[in-house]
Amino acid sequence: MRMKRMAAVAAAAALALGMTACGDNKGDEGTGSGSKSFAAGSTMERLSKAQKIKVGTKFDQPGFGLKGLSGKPEGFDVEVAKIIVKELGIPEDKIEYVETPSKVREDKIVDGSVDLVAATYTINDKRKERIAFAGPYYEAGQNILVKKDDTTITGPDSFQDGTKKVCSVTGSTPAEEIKKHVKDVATQLVLFDTYDKCRDALKGGQVDAVTTDNVILLGYVAKDEASFKLAGENFTKEPYGIGVKKEDTDFRNFINDVLEKAMQDGRWKKAWDDTAGKFGAQLGTAPTINRY
Ligand code: GLU
Repeated sequence: MRMKRMAAVAAAAALALGMTACGDNKGDEGTGSGSKSFAAGSTMERLSKAQKIKVGTKFDQPGFGLKGLSGKPEGFDVEVAKIIVKELGIPEDKIEYVETPSKVREDKIVDGSVDLVAATYTINDKRKERIAFAGPYYEAGQNILVKKDDTTITGPDSFQDGTKKVCSVTGSTPAEEIKKHVKDVATQLVLFDTYDKCRDALKGGQVDAVTTDNVILLGYVAKDEASFKLAGENFTKEPYGIGVKKEDTDFRNFINDVLEKAMQDGRWKKAWDDTAGKFGAQLGTAPTINRY
């Protein structure tokens, strides 16, 4: 009788946590500790047993991953990571955040410095040679940030003049894309390791523009509307994924299940509304998970 009641309470709790949609996470076979159990030998079991996880994210991008006075990064990527971590049965305060600027993301996943990366991380085939992606959970697009009073830069082809300087970040997709548009890469393209350095260079007048995903740039506009604006329309598609180890299909499937459920039950939208949504960026419709 007592057992029956306990089972009913556990089932109700599982429902409340939205575990049912993750039904194929082989939840009952494993030996995990804490409130969840996962398939023996899986990454989910290892992390859930350890009750801690290392999450790679950005520390310099308002709305997505910005480390401020709280000492912890805040933003949409961080909230999406928290949704995944909660489904692993790990308390939020057991997340160790590791800064993963664009260039080091694959390295940190491959060498095990992080368990997952949520960092405005565009899914593409080149990156898939070294790591795997769950998602997408958002679609951004490349754009250009300029000074508020600039009327000369209206899109990527404005750099065809051969003189205007544009800043981006090493190892990012926008840094590669903009090379197709500038006339002289050697003198016009300035690369740093983080976007906040590009923003400072624009404000200080060392460069004429910054290029990366619209939502990152919108974060900088929101923080300093008197100085910056976006020039023109998005000119690429940047679907954001969660980076994991290439061979870890079970973990990728688990994250895909969590994302899919969160996009349906309101957690994804709330994560957005609480963060980047405040900066005038659009969430759009939930993207379809790509289970490749
Ligand atoms: N989403 C692009 C990328 O993954 C640009 C943003 C970034 O550098 O994180 O490269």
